[in-house]
Amino acid sequence: MGFEIITKTPGPSGVRPNLPDYRQGCRQFHWQQAQARIKGHEGGINIAFEALDRHVLEGQGEQTSLVWLSKQGERRTFSYRELQGLSNRFASLLASLGVVKGETVFSLCGRTPQLYAALLGSLKAGAVFCPLFSAFGPEPIRSRMEIGNARVLISSARLYLKKVAPWRSELPQLGQVLLYDCHGDCPAGCLDLDSALAGAAETFHICPTQPEDPALLHFTSGTTGLPKGALHVHEAVVYHSYSAWCALDLHPGDIYWCTADPGWVTGTSYGVIAPLCNRVTLVVDEAEFDPERWYRILADEKVNVWYTAPTAIRMLMKAGDELVARYDLGALRFLASVGEPLNPEAVVWGTRLFGMPFHDNWWQTETGGIMLANFASEPVKPGSMGQPLPGITAGIVRVDDQGRLTELSAPGQVGELALRPGWPSMFRGYLHDEQRYRNCFRDNWYLSGDLAWRDEDGYYWFVGRSKELIKSSGHLIGPFEVESVLLEHPAVAEAGVIGIPDVVAGEVVKAFVALKPGYEAGEDLLKSLMAHARKRLGPAVAPREIAIKDNLPKTRSGKIMRRLLRARELGLPPGDISTLESDEGNGHEHSPRS
Ligand code: ATP
Ligand code: MG
Repeated sequence: MGFEIITKTPGPSGVRPNLPDYRQGCRQFHWQQAQARIKGHEGGINIAFEALDRHVLEGQGEQTSLVWLSKQGERRTFSYRELQGLSNRFASLLASLGVVKGETVFSLCGRTPQLYAALLGSLKAGAVFCPLFSAFGPEPIRSRMEIGNARVLISSARLYLKKVAPWRSELPQLGQVLLYDCHGDCPAGCLDLDSALAGAAETFHICPTQPEDPALLHFTSGTTGLPKGALHVHEAVVYHSYSAWCALDLHPGDIYWCTADPGWVTGTSYGVIAPLCNRVTLVVDEAEFDPERWYRILADEKVNVWYTAPTAIRMLMKAGDELVARYDLGALRFLASVGEPLNPEAVVWGTRLFGMPFHDNWWQTETGGIMLANFASEPVKPGSMGQPLPGITAGIVRVDDQGRLTELSAPGQVGELALRPGWPSMFRGYLHDEQRYRNCFRDNWYLSGDLAWRDEDGYYWFVGRSKELIKSSGHLIGPFEVESVLLEHPAVAEAGVIGIPDVVAGEVVKAFVALKPGYEAGEDLLKSLMAHARKRLGPAVAPREIAIKDNLPKTRSGKIMRRLLRARELGLPPGDISTLESDEGNGHEHSPRS
């Protein structure tokens, strides 16, 4: 892609704990061996026990488990022992309300301590926990709670009244609604969570869950269509624990910030479970994205490991380099990114500004944990998703019209990214959609729906979603390649690329771009963008049209919704937009046909 491979340089702090062991370990250690690090609970396995109680039993209860930064500027810390106590209170309360193993507890909470304690408390009580993103509107909340057969909802009085109360009577199975921040005025039919917790027992006998017992329900981001409910089991903790060590370089005592909301799988697997299992101190920020606030948190909290997403990185790039220089980020040791393709430009920018690259890694709601990663101990290839974690077998396959699967073993061939099933955090089904689940598997491969290729060193490179591949005059064009090239242009902050029908070529490439501050949309800029794209990509792959927008439509988890760009372009129905966050705004169409 025209970028140099970045050989690992230590961060400004210069040191990494037990580096030689780690390097050695990363290559040889598999999740199966990591299983031995899991203590197990009463002959079974319980995620919350591994995350909290075992550390207290091992004498580490006084370490800070969570630092909470409120929107208003409050800072509260919880030791492992305190979080254990709080989660026990939640579990006691749920048990006293008659919640039994396998019932579903939903949360609709901002990133508050209650959410973290509720998640772990529900798992202790044997319930299945489903965190919903608090910015969802009433309809996506209702439909997810209906699909997930919600028995209990945990929320704030404010969120409940606004988003759930209007339709609550339509969900008779929703037995209990527990609300915090009621300030003495608990809505009818709900329980004041703060006072109920104060009266609940601080000790709890954790439900002896088995490895295959359901633990978490997560809905996919809805980037390509209707969100699917993926079910995960308690055994997943083995892989969460292992993969965070292996791919995120987490070590006990590290200060770690995962910027994802627990309403998305990243915010649970690597925002709650994996870090606590690795006995790190978790930073939780209640507020929304703000470049200055983010740099301040990195500096003030002395964050060592930072796990974020390409959209956030691109917005930080847009905010300018001068801002970073004002903060002392010397504690940073490892940066990682997930959720969308990370453009090479962003990796290079990170290396320049932070003295170390962002380590891109790839996974899905369905995989439950990181599958491919640029490791701390290996060179980072900007633009690549990295290599399979030890213990994971990945492949590139093609499935023909008759459903026959061929493995493409030669490097460089583009096909569907597939994985050999069997790792512990693998989803165990889509809720109420057995057929769709089965369709994900063929010839002992799990088919991811993403297209990629593998290079000679075994690194995987993202091409696009199989549904988003563009077929133009016999060329197969992945949106990511075109978007990455557009992002190299100094004016471009974001790019989304789609295929639109064309009588001659079948499809042609159309690009939508949002500009960095200080750049004006106009014919000159369009010409310059077009010239850059043609020079880098050649006329067959370069966009035929470029439209400049104020903003691109994204899911609430930060993914560009190319299907919506396409539907709008072609005047088609938008499909499910329950997860849509930002929108195009009042863009300027500048799309001269060339
Ligand atoms: P839906 O399945 O509902 O369409 P989604 O696939 O976006 O939504 P998630 O499970 O949250 O829902 O996202 C997983 C997808 O995100 C991957 O299949 C891939 O397309 C994309 N993705 C995640 N990480 C990366 C990465 N590092 N590089 C490229 N793409 C990535
Ligand atoms: Mg998906």
